[in-house]
Amino acid sequence: MKPMPSTVIRNVRPLGGAAVDVVLHDGRISALLPAGSAAPELATLVDGQGQLLLPALVESHVHFDKTLWATPWRPNSAGPTRNHRISNEHTVLKDFQVPMAERAGPLIEHCIAQGSLYFRSHLDTQTVWGLKHVQEMLALREKYRHLIELQLVAFPQGGLLIAPGTLALMEQALELGVDVVGGIDPAGIDRDPIRHLEKIFELATRYRRGIDIHLHDLGELGRWEIERIADMTEAMGLQGQVVISHAYSLGAFAPAELMPLADRLAALGISIMSCAPPNVSVPPVAMLRSRGVNVCSGSDGIRDAWSPMGSGDMLERAMLMALRFGWSKDEELEMAFDVVSQGGARALNLQAYGLDVGCQANLLLLPAENIAEAVVNRSPQRTVISRGQVVAKDGIFLVA
Ligand SMILES: [Zn+2]
Repeated sequence: MKPMPSTVIRNVRPLGGAAVDVVLHDGRISALLPAGSAAPELATLVDGQGQLLLPALVESHVHFDKTLWATPWRPNSAGPTRNHRISNEHTVLKDFQVPMAERAGPLIEHCIAQGSLYFRSHLDTQTVWGLKHVQEMLALREKYRHLIELQLVAFPQGGLLIAPGTLALMEQALELGVDVVGGIDPAGIDRDPIRHLEKIFELATRYRRGIDIHLHDLGELGRWEIERIADMTEAMGLQGQVVISHAYSLGAFAPAELMPLADRLAALGISIMSCAPPNVSVPPVAMLRSRGVNVCSGSDGIRDAWSPMGSGDMLERAMLMALRFGWSKDEELEMAFDVVSQGGARALNLQAYGLDVGCQANLLLLPAENIAEAVVNRSPQRTVISRGQVVAKDGIFLVA
């Protein structure tokens, strides 16, 4: 194959620092030079005009297969409990006229245009759908493979043990190429926490995959389950491969009570994913990070039968996290940004993520003085570069 010529992004400020020219080669950052010093004969990919340069954002928890994106507004029809919402989703999606590819595809393109190029999407793996969602999402992943990294999680939305046949579907999903083993409320939904955890850890070990478990169970019960997840992570040697999504129970305890568990999560490389919702206790992100626990974030559902909310903008998610905790100092807003960038990269075990020489040229450019202003302003004037090519500008996805 003919080698690609190098290109250059001129005059940008990585993370708000001094202006540089960024030389790109073969989809990677090959040099960072003082602004104005890159060879004039190199083709200019973007004249940055002093804009802020950020690594592409990481959407660590989304449910693309559930979305109603790109369809007419639909008033939320869900009842008050989680079981109501699960059954409402079946009713809504069962006979939905617009195929998943025509909902999730435009949503993926929208998220790219907001600056996210790395995704982890949970994917309903339950008997009510069979392998339909799995196959359709695997096809979508192929469609966008040249632009994004999309990790898929086999997610037993309807329970693993209480819905016979689900475990076999999970195995089939993993065999078909789904990346990560999911789980859900081992106590709250499956009512048999140890057996649920044993099953998902057994799957992860057998298929050599990571685990990303939804854990909404509250208070002492949820904390006890997190301790058991830590036990099994250690016993199975899955350090650095486990994410606990939501982990609301961690928000119920004073920092001193939580510290031993936080230290254990840090030592085992167990990441916590929090969307920082306003209506429930949430993990204390700053405290966890101060003990070395990695925290990432995501949109969760975007315009689906569970909720009409969600914009797919991870800068907005950083802002919502800051609002949830009352963060306003620059270093606090930088922490919120770190959660939706490096925190996601660590949780998803991304390779070559960031702005260093050798990293993938997956970049976001926008007008802002620094990271704090980027989180607060969330400028719509964004230039998104995937593997060295401009793929979106000013909110418009440009790839035919
Ligand atoms: Zn979720």
